[in-house]
Amino acid sequence: MAPDLERHQHDVLIIGAGGAGLRAAIAASDAGANVGLVCKSLLGKAHTVMAEGGVAAALAHVDERDNWRTHFRDTMVGGKMLNNPRMAELHAQEAPDRVRELEAWGAVFDRTRDGRILQRPFGGHSHPRLAHVGDRTGLEMIRTLQDRAVAAGISVYMECTITHLLTGPNGVAGAFGYWRTDGRSVVFAAKATLLATGGIGKAYEVTSNSWEYSGDGHALAYRAGAELIDMEFVQFHPTGMVWPPGVRGLLVTEAVRGEGGILRNKDGERFMWKYLPEDRRHEYAATDEEAKTWVEAQSAGRTTDARRPPELSTRDNVSRAIYTEVKEGRGSPHGGVFLDISYLPAEHVRRKLPSMYDQFKELADVDITTGPMEIAPTTHYVMGGVRVDADTGATTVPGLFAAGEVSGGMHGANRLGGNSLSDLLVFGQRAGLGAAAYAADRDEAYVDPIQVRQAERELDEPFSTPDGADPYRLREELQATMQSLVGIFRVEADLDQALESLADIRRRAARLCVSGPRAYNPGWNLVFELRNLIDVSEAITRSARQRTESRGAHSRLDYPDTEANWAKLNSVVTRDGETMVVRTAATHEIPADLLEIAKAGGGA
Ligand SMILES: Cc1cc2nc3c(=O)[nH]c(=O)nc-3n(C[C@H](O)[C@H](O)[C@H](O)COP(=O)(O)OP(=O)(O)OC[C@H]3O[C@@H](n4cnc5c(N)ncnc54)[C@H](O)[C@@H]3O)c2cc1C
Repeated sequence: MAPDLERHQHDVLIIGAGGAGLRAAIAASDAGANVGLVCKSLLGKAHTVMAEGGVAAALAHVDERDNWRTHFRDTMVGGKMLNNPRMAELHAQEAPDRVRELEAWGAVFDRTRDGRILQRPFGGHSHPRLAHVGDRTGLEMIRTLQDRAVAAGISVYMECTITHLLTGPNGVAGAFGYWRTDGRSVVFAAKATLLATGGIGKAYEVTSNSWEYSGDGHALAYRAGAELIDMEFVQFHPTGMVWPPGVRGLLVTEAVRGEGGILRNKDGERFMWKYLPEDRRHEYAATDEEAKTWVEAQSAGRTTDARRPPELSTRDNVSRAIYTEVKEGRGSPHGGVFLDISYLPAEHVRRKLPSMYDQFKELADVDITTGPMEIAPTTHYVMGGVRVDADTGATTVPGLFAAGEVSGGMHGANRLGGNSLSDLLVFGQRAGLGAAAYAADRDEAYVDPIQVRQAERELDEPFSTPDGADPYRLREELQATMQSLVGIFRVEADLDQALESLADIRRRAARLCVSGPRAYNPGWNLVFELRNLIDVSEAITRSARQRTESRGAHSRLDYPDTEANWAKLNSVVTRDGETMVVRTAATHEIPADLLEIAKAGGGA
């Protein structure tokens, strides 16, 4: 290893400073570990900051009938029972404490009349459950966690991209990366390494995700030998902006529907009535009148026996409904449908949805208090991810832990809105503790100089390959492939074609060319993200091809039914040399007591 190479040593290295990474860092530091926290943007800019609608926790402040069992049941039903039941159980049980803890650390949530944390309804949740701060919840969460982490004295490395995990005889021994500010290399030796790198949205053309979501953690873990599970389950959020083109895909929070937003097609039809799954129809209002009573009660902070509106069906279902309306010619002028909240008092809409009001006013010149929004589905979240142990966040590779969106299992085939922020808090804390406990029993990590030299060579290569391919061009091709062939509805022929395209992109991406200096060079940064996007896209496509049924967010036109023989199978992606292998593995058995809870009130 070059003597001038920058090097840092920690007990626990956390890659990612969103909600999961920050919560893990606080927990590991509280447990006595020396913690390093790396992020590729500035601290406070992680994707969590964009979260709008709220954090789900059965606090029962608005409806006292709520409890962890109902939250567990909703999560399992939403995930089509493919969830890791232990994760769903811990999540439902511990989310209220994690939210109260945030409040104790200074987070200022919206309040009920008697001064407790206010909760709003969201799709698939039986009761109003999302603690929120208007529609800027993620900002408050990040601010609070960040203050706490900085006060704990955690070492933070900002604008640093990790490109390789370093491995040794005992598993993962740290990571290698470079500073985005000047391109210099840096090595982190660590007894335990925790991935908290978020999602994969940039694999698609239309996404609500920021530039940071290039699947880095998924790909790093895969290359280090970890298992990726359930990668076919990509969530297409029903409501993204469609106009103007520059903001296509930008999220329109589910809070709009939670506050009473109505979906209509170009003929003015409230189409969601048609798309409610028969086995769950009894949970939704039967008429416009009943839905209206529910909305009025929510707005006034009253409980009601009226059932929730059909727009609050789960995201997978609403997305398919919108897609179908547009495809069958009943869409809006710019290829979406209409979402209308303007029938509620303008002052109420501006108070509950301030960011949405500003977003539409400034970007689309639409006043949502006087007219409808035009929206369509957008790639939003990945349920699949690195397989982890529910209690500790340990992956299948020694020394490697994961938490947050990069991990898999918690949400099964479909995530309920609000369940990600609570996932970050619950499993961020658990993984931080798990990594600290692992590190406490280990000697200093040994960093292999051969791996470091190879990683450095890979950083140099694109500057000395003048005939190499353009990374921007290849990313465009990859995104177009995933958008058109591995989107909301899938068929085998498309998936085969996608695999061929991805293989061709991978071949050309082996020789990439960039120019200019290393400092803040977006083309060069993309070289590493592209490699990750290719791995992640192939994992999604192979898993989607393998699952010959429709379940949750995975819809196969050639296999439209949900099949009993797939009900207890996870998809598992692993690396065998240079080849990606996909297989199935039995899901965790659901203990009898939990199964009873999950099946209560309407079956699975
Ligand atoms: C617009 C929007 C609104 C949302 N609203 C809600 C909501 O209301 N409720 C809810 O529950 N969920 C919501 N979600 C989902 C939720 O915000 C995310 O799932 C969650 O924030 C992910 O958190 P995380 O900690 O796993 O990752 P992130 O917050 O994305 O953090 C990832 C971190 O990893 C770092 N990183 C990534 N790759 C590397 C690398 N190679 N090297 C170094 N660092 C790296 C990044 O810099 C960043 O610091 C929303 C999502 C979007 C897009």
